Amino acid sequence: MKLEAFTVDNIPLIKKGDDLAEIISNNIELDDGDIAVIASTIVAKSEGQVFKLEDINPSENAVRIANKNRFNPAFVQAVLNRSRECLVESPIMLVETYNGNVCINAGIDDSNIEKGFILDLPENPDESAELIGSRLKELTGKQLGVIITDTNGRAFKTGQTGVAVGVYQLPAIKNWRGETDLYGHALEITEEAVADEIAGTANLLMGEGDGGNPVIIVRGMNILTEEKRTVKEMHRPDDEDIIKKGLRCLNQ
Ligand code: GDP
Ligand code: MN
Ligand code: MN
Ligand code: MN
Repeated sequence: MKLEAFTVDNIPLIKKGDDLAEIISNNIELDDGDIAVIASTIVAKSEGQVFKLEDINPSENAVRIANKNRFNPAFVQAVLNRSRECLVESPIMLVETYNGNVCINAGIDDSNIEKGFILDLPENPDESAELIGSRLKELTGKQLGVIITDTNGRAFKTGQTGVAVGVYQLPAIKNWRGETDLYGHALEITEEAVADEIAGTANLLMGEGDGGNPVIIVRGMNILTEEKRTVKEMHRPDDEDIIKKGLRCLNQ
């Protein structure tokens, strides 16, 4: 078995309205089965999810949290604007976004954007992945998948890793239930977060700084599907999530 990952060179600084599929297909020869892994940062830029902190008016609640955390009140307001629920308020903000992802600061980012500005995640990253993916297919005539990534921390561990926040034409979860192990035992509960694993692999080449590598092509996975799949496959149902339950208890 063999898996390849490579950068797409010559991607410019992305601006609102840029056609990412056109930029990608102009700079790389794609094959059937390829997965284009794209940093949410440039998807957000192309969709105009860029905000000037000065323009955001913090509410009383935002000022209260900002004082506790020593955060910029406008930044806190931006996080609250994208949050369905605040699971931890201080000393960091751990929230569930309207899209269902639980993450720090609602994924709002001030890296790789001009000073004084912030980047929100795309509002519906699955939809963004579909738009870019279908345009890429139109331009190349190839069968392709798309993953939109962000860099997230993990509970209980230091170190961040690339994760999938949107998918198109590939599963987020691979179900191993019903398969057997080497000794013939039936696998009963194993689900593999393949989209996160591919995102983590691609993130090795993206890096986090000034590398300028927001698009990675992953070749050799052989997992594309015509079925409609979603990153929400990875979001644990609320009533089964004991960590969330515990955090809500602490907040009462
Ligand atoms: P995130 O993980 O989605 O928050 O994205 P990062 O801020 O970690 O950036 C991932 C990669 O994309 C890094 O290599 C950045 O240098 C690069 N990057 C970010 N924005 C741009 C852009 O507008 N153009 C180019 N060429 N690279 C970018
Ligand atoms: Mn960033
Ligand atoms: Mn980010
Ligand atoms: Mn990153």
